[in-house]
Amino acid sequence: MSVAVALDGPAGAGKSSVAKKAAKELDFIYVDTGALYRTIGLAAMRENIEPVASDEVFDLLKRIKVELTFNEKGEQIVLLNGEDVSGQIRTPEASMTASKISAIPEVRAFLLDLQRSMAKTNNVIMDGRDIGTVVLPDAQVKIFLTAAPEARAGRRYKELIEKGMDVKYEDILNDVIERDNFDMNREIAPLKPAEDSVTVDTTELDFDQSVEAVISVIKEKTDKHF
Ligand code: C5P
Repeated sequence: MSVAVALDGPAGAGKSSVAKKAAKELDFIYVDTGALYRTIGLAAMRENIEPVASDEVFDLLKRIKVELTFNEKGEQIVLLNGEDVSGQIRTPEASMTASKISAIPEVRAFLLDLQRSMAKTNNVIMDGRDIGTVVLPDAQVKIFLTAAPEARAGRRYKELIEKGMDVKYEDILNDVIERDNFDMNREIAPLKPAEDSVTVDTTELDFDQSVEAVISVIKEKTDKHF
């Protein structure tokens, strides 16, 4: 039987980099579900469609195809109607649009099967906001990875600056706080720890320590059965 690790938590807690490294060490597949919401956000942005529940968004969902695949390095590639948009979904505007569009129930329903199918046949670490609560409620391991907003904004800022983007720390911090509010207070699939999850707070942990903490929870919960 395949092992599923649900890794949820707020924006910038280090989920994706920590999950990627942990997945590599354990030989699991890493699935970044935020990329799926970002892709729908990007599709809406391209057509100037507001990210609110509307016939325009419902119609958009009927016209688009979102797929996940992996390149030769094992990195996740997300395809929008066959086009690789993995880079284009990483802007602050795409982040905010993703957060807004992900509050629409039809959008979440649209992505549910795709996410579940990834966990059917593979050992996965799946990162998102509602993986342990909604997408994979039977996951053997549920981790809520979090950190103080300032620590999360600082990491995101560094990441974007390193990519050559022209961003301000204050803007990133405001985005992080706004996105958290949005994700935690929405009616559908709000961001919250699953009852049976283990919380890992990375505020005071460096990258390697965070990876170690996550791997040790996975090993403990599975008795290393993989
Ligand atoms: O994880 P990432 O920051 O890329 O996610 C972008 C946005 O997509 C989040 O702010 C959140 O609103 C939404 N999301 C979600 N459920 C998930 C993953 C992401 O609602 N499982």
